[in-house]
Parts: sequence; structure tokens; C-alpha cells
Amino acid sequence: MSFFSRLRISFLRFMNGRYGTDTLNRHLLFAALGLAVINLPLRSFAVSTLEWVLIFLVFFRMFSKDLLKRRRENARYYSLLQKVKLFFRHISYRFRERKTMRFFKCPHCKAPIKMPKRSGLFDIRCQKCKNTFTKEFK
Ligand SMILES: [Zn+2]
Repeated sequence: MSFFSRLRISFLRFMNGRYGTDTLNRHLLFAALGLAVINLPLRSFAVSTLEWVLIFLVFFRMFSKDLLKRRRENARYYSLLQKVKLFFRHISYRFRERKTMRFFKCPHCKAPIKMPKRSGLFDIRCQKCKNTFTKEFK
């Protein structure tokens, strides 16, 4: 058996029962690399410390044997990531439609309402709370 085969087997044996990597770990590693690039001209001790904390966290999570806890962390991160993606998708939609649609909130329940961009006085009925209100657009 070659040296690399033995090395591979011993690494696999070491990683047996350990968590490995996931989305949160990959994103933490990219954040650490991003900080390293940003810190090249700055040479800040605080940023450098943060990089090392992130790298330590990546290795801690990768070699951890508490699989359930690591999966929960990743699930929480994934849920947060979805909310952030949804927020930016919403912002992008509003930006794309800004010339043809008007976006505002119901004064009663604060539910988002959109309508075609026209001027005049309108009676608007909220789909969520069924409250009717009058709004003028110029
Ligand atoms: Zn409403």
C-alpha cells in the first residue's frame, strides 16, 4: 500500500463519525477569505483576529462529533439565508416594476398592496383585512 493510500485511509478513519462540511461552513470559509482579501491593504489586527476566529469555527464544526447540534445550526443558518434571499428578491421585483406598479401598505393592517401606476383618487380594498380606504395618487 502506497503512502498516499495509507494517508487517505487514516484520514477517513479520523473523519468517521465527525460532522464534515456544510453550507454554513463553506460560507464561513468564504467570509474568512473575503476578510483576508479586504485586510491585505488594511493590515488590521481586529480583522485578522476575526478571520482566525472564523477559520477556527470552520474547523471546530468540521471535526465536531455533535452531529445533531451542527445540523441544527446549519438549518437555522439556511432558514436565515432564505429570508435574506426573499428580501432581496422582493426588493429586486419592486425595482423592476417601479415604472408600472405602485407599492404601499394598508393603513389598517400594514399588509403590502400593489396596484398599476395611475393618477387619480382610488378606493382600495385590502385583500388581507378587507378594509376599504381612499388614496389619491398624482
Ligand atoms: Zn389590510
